[in-house]
Amino acid sequence: MNLHALTNADLHCHSTVSDGACEPEQLAARARAGGVELWALTDHDEVGGVARARAAARAEGLAFLSGVEISVSFAGQVVHIVGLGFDEHDAQLREGLAATRGGREPRAREMAAGLAAVGIRGAYEGALKFVGNPELISRTHFARWLVEAGHCRDVPEVFRRFLTEGKPGFVPHRWASLSDALRWIHGAGGVAVIAHPARYRFTANEELALLTDFKGHGGQAVEVVTGSHSEQDAARFTEVALEFGLLASRGSDFHAPGESRTELGALPHLSGRLSPVWLALQDRVQFPN
Ligand code: AMP
Ligand code: MN
Ligand code: MN
Ligand code: MN
Repeated sequence: MNLHALTNADLHCHSTVSDGACEPEQLAARARAGGVELWALTDHDEVGGVARARAAARAEGLAFLSGVEISVSFAGQVVHIVGLGFDEHDAQLREGLAATRGGREPRAREMAAGLAAVGIRGAYEGALKFVGNPELISRTHFARWLVEAGHCRDVPEVFRRFLTEGKPGFVPHRWASLSDALRWIHGAGGVAVIAHPARYRFTANEELALLTDFKGHGGQAVEVVTGSHSEQDAARFTEVALEFGLLASRGSDFHAPGESRTELGALPHLSGRLSPVWLALQDRVQFPN
């Protein structure tokens, strides 16, 4: 396989190891069905699914990169940093991710207390029914339970009414620092990517600070084409990538059938003006036979 000729890379999605609804093997099959040529599983704060994903990619004939999506606190918001092509056995990376996951259980109990205060009882136990990895209880699991229990029609409505800043189930949390996340990824031999940059509600100055600090810590890439970006978002971050000399990534951020807007592989291509991040990861890619 020639990485230069490859266009359908999908380097962002989630399995039951974090807040996705499919097993890594099911995702690999969906990726192949969606025409994906190069795939990465990027569970939140966890690399426990990477070995299964790698084996499944081999079985499906997909080229593969290791991946993770790290939750980072920056300028009062949560920023997601995707790591690609690292050694998932690296001890510092694994310790850092374990520490990042560590706050999720007490946070979930606080979220449930906030929901109980507005009359929604049993949310912690309810969310747990949807959790595949006990260390990774996330807002998504609460959202799925709130829909199942009839409190909301769909997941986006739960986030709007209950799980975002100022709402009863929202609990502010201190995640990893940007410098720690990049140190873990780089220490394990990977490349760091700013995930879905158009999703953040930063001022122009804060966005500039993110891009500058990210580059200052050795960050190399930004997601330009991703499930939550509009065509305009992709166009804007094409220019940002070029202006800041960043490599470009592409990924659906697929979580669950019927819940995610974008299927694996079903994304616009990167502009030919961009340098795809996978070209910098040539010797990290597991190629199909
Ligand atoms: P957490 O890491 O527990 O804060 O959960 C964050 C996850 O919630 C993200 O990775 C998304 O999967 C999901 N999420 C965040 N905001 C929304 C939203 N507005 N609508 C649907 N899902 C969302
Ligand atoms: Mn998620
Ligand atoms: Mn994300
Ligand atoms: Mn994601």
